[in-house]
Amino acid sequence: MLYPQNIKCAVCGKDLFEENRYRICSGCSLTANIRFCPKCGRAVGESTVYCDDCMNHGRDFKEARAPFVYEGKAQKLVYRLKYGGQKYIAKIMAQYLADEYYKNDWYIDFITFVPMHIKREKSRGYNQAQLIASELSQIVNKPLVDSLKRIKYSNNFARLSREERFKEAEDSFRANDKYKKKSILLIDDVFTTGATTGSCAKELIKSGASDVYVLTFCTGVCKPKLY
Ligand SMILES: [Zn+2]
Ligand SMILES: [Zn+2]
Repeated sequence: MLYPQNIKCAVCGKDLFEENRYRICSGCSLTANIRFCPKCGRAVGESTVYCDDCMNHGRDFKEARAPFVYEGKAQKLVYRLKYGGQKYIAKIMAQYLADEYYKNDWYIDFITFVPMHIKREKSRGYNQAQLIASELSQIVNKPLVDSLKRIKYSNNFARLSREERFKEAEDSFRANDKYKKKSILLIDDVFTTGATTGSCAKELIKSGASDVYVLTFCTGVCKPKLY
């Protein structure tokens, strides 16, 4: 048998006739994040180098990157993993994150993930960020560490403004251990403002980590402020 059978595109469901570790057909290509802020990795417009946030405020992580923009087909995949119970999508996402990881040439001691509050994880049954991180850890052969606990339960986080998100994410996490001089790769599904990943990074640095890098499957588009 030359071709694997029963392998379908994760987006449109069509049969894939070629060996394709991404499991997404050529007709379903996602919006690649090509022009991005070199610090936070968010998609930026033509004229910008650093986004306004990275230009005007510090970031607790060293660099963040994401292969896709949070829209269209990529956004739908995130939804299906997060709310549709389709856990196999985590493995597909991890393939893309592995490429991104190798591209960036970061030195990493271990991989970790943005934790969910215990209440939310119980109701969903799993943490999608943990699933992606676990798959990635197997592909790139770096240990997975459950390094953080979410101690604050935030409701309707998605509806908050940028400022409210940063305020709400503050002191939301506790490190499970000391990570002295460790370089850590933090995984989440989507990077929006960086409030959550930033708060996680801050806590890891407080626990002794030397550097925190962030990889997410999707990232937001940063619209420059109009003056
Ligand atoms: Zn397709
Ligand atoms: Zn930025």
